[in-house]
Amino acid sequence: MSDLEYSPVDIIAAKQAGGALTSDQIRWFIRNSAAGRVPDYQLSALLMAVFFRGMNLRETRDLTRAMIESGKVLKLSSVRGTRVDKHSTGGVGDKISLIVGPLAAAVGVKVPMVSGRGLGHTGGTLDKLESIPGFRTGLSPAMFERVVREVGISIIGQSSQIAPADRKLYAIRDVTSTVRCQPLIVGSILSKKIASGADALVFDIKCGKGAFMESLADAKSLSGMLSKVAAMMDKKVVSVVTRMDEPLGYTVGNAMEVVESIQVLKGKHVGDLLDVTFAIGAEMVVLAGKAKTRQEARTLLRSALLGGKGFEKFREMVRAQGGDTRVIDDPDRLARARYHVNAGARRRGYIKSIDALEVGKIAVVLGAGRQRKEDDVDHAVGIEFIKKTGRKVAKGEPFAVVHASSPSKGRRCARLLEDVIEIGAARPRPRSVVIGRVHAGRIEKIRLPKN
Ligand code: URA
Repeated sequence: MSDLEYSPVDIIAAKQAGGALTSDQIRWFIRNSAAGRVPDYQLSALLMAVFFRGMNLRETRDLTRAMIESGKVLKLSSVRGTRVDKHSTGGVGDKISLIVGPLAAAVGVKVPMVSGRGLGHTGGTLDKLESIPGFRTGLSPAMFERVVREVGISIIGQSSQIAPADRKLYAIRDVTSTVRCQPLIVGSILSKKIASGADALVFDIKCGKGAFMESLADAKSLSGMLSKVAAMMDKKVVSVVTRMDEPLGYTVGNAMEVVESIQVLKGKHVGDLLDVTFAIGAEMVVLAGKAKTRQEARTLLRSALLGGKGFEKFREMVRAQGGDTRVIDDPDRLARARYHVNAGARRRGYIKSIDALEVGKIAVVLGAGRQRKEDDVDHAVGIEFIKKTGRKVAKGEPFAVVHASSPSKGRRCARLLEDVIEIGAARPRPRSVVIGRVHAGRIEKIRLPKN
């Protein structure tokens, strides 16, 4: 590492002018930002410059490395076998990690998962898990390794030890509108995943209105960049592209999503959640060498689900991380908002679309996400859909219930939600939530059996 002292202003100006930053400049800026020596306003300025000017592949690799080097790199040497993690690029109602992680662990995959908090309009696995009283997302590296070894899965957040630079950048990007930026997404995801000791990674690349990548072309390009940078660091990567036009499942909001995940792990059929779970889970199981084909992997996952083994793993993980397992057996014990307000259809017909981006923003207004980085989230609030796309509604019929902390917020958000759903005269054509698997730069269809 060079000992050169740089001026943050010069680095910001170089990126603002569209130049490529050197490896030393990137390393210096990230190291000093993570240590608090570069103030947040200069970090914000650099992030904005990168947002507009981008970064080439070499800069993105350097950014990722610098973020990894801001903390420890876990070796997890006591954990036998291929360690496989999954990561979503961010969605609304996306609780797949809570379902697929325990299921994969139940079939023998070792899952060291380092997740993030809510970002922009999208929810975060950590915020969801922290709605379980006592659940600790800040385990020490030794404890994390022990839980992965003994339970098969542990989910934690970046800490002062693991990719602390990501924690800093993530919080600032969230409140400076610099989230939708490929090199920053790649650095953020890969740094925490690689630092946490994963050998292989499965990416759920969300694509659509509620995703950071709206178009298929952007989703493909993000997948390409993730794979190239991961390959430069000797990690195996598989990407699956899934639709994020409407929220996943029927709930959006932290505790409510934990409840829905538990219900799915206990056998409740929620089609879109199961489709994404099996598509991502099958890749994890194959990468871990626990099945030869994706079909065989799906069969293993399905029997873990039906036999309650995934649910048991979830419970074991919650216990190992200090969470109150009584809420797992009786989810009614989780925080619940006091006020419930119905959102009703403005006309009769079929629900044509439910804009995930707008729903995510309404969830933030309710307090399920953050508007400023110091904000706390309200675990209890959120939105529960009764009907989703394709279902018939009568005029005035409730299609969702808003769970709010005050009657006025509940009413306001219910009206906002009513503006967001589109109702048409004809039933829309059903579309698969799983678009495909990225292979050699192309998206190949995944044949999903009926769940
Ligand atoms: N998920 C992350 O961890 N980071 C991002 O920047 C986006 C999604």
